[in-house]
Amino acid sequence: MRPEEGADMRCPWCGTQDTRVVDSRPAEDRTAIRRRRECASCSRRFTTFERGQGAFLRVIKRDGAKEPYERQKLVDGVRKSIKNRPVTEEQVAALADRVEEALRRAGPEVTTQELGLEVLSHLRPLDEVAYLRFASVYKDFQEITDFERELGLMLQKRKPKPKRERKRKRPASRR
Ligand SMILES: [Zn+2]
Repeated sequence: MRPEEGADMRCPWCGTQDTRVVDSRPAEDRTAIRRRRECASCSRRFTTFERGQGAFLRVIKRDGAKEPYERQKLVDGVRKSIKNRPVTEEQVAALADRVEEALRRAGPEVTTQELGLEVLSHLRPLDEVAYLRFASVYKDFQEITDFERELGLMLQKRKPKPKRERKRKRPASRR
């Protein structure tokens, strides 16, 4: 399940390939990702600097422009969606790791849509409200997709009974 990663990510202590990411952040010069990994076999931890295709993702925006993937942007987006929700920073970090692992397998270039859907698939089991919030933001810059239909079904099932719904009126976005 981890073709190109295997070789470099082996545990330096016992050589097993089965390691888990416990923390990751961009290296200082931002040309690599620094990860703390924990060995599933001997439980010792080590640091890797992951570079190259798998490590460094590029995001293709809807207008076709490409930009380097930035973990911070993803984390910021998720943080907004979990405001006042019982989701911890650790859970957000773990979510970001899982999203990155999945995207690295799909990469080195991923679309914003793939990125958004990947976040949603991991956010959903964590917190439904956060999921819906993230989805509503995400929808702003995405085409209509199957996802939207799914969201509609989900909202129907919830049958919300708000005592008093406050509608925030915002002017239609213009630029
Ligand atoms: Zn080990």
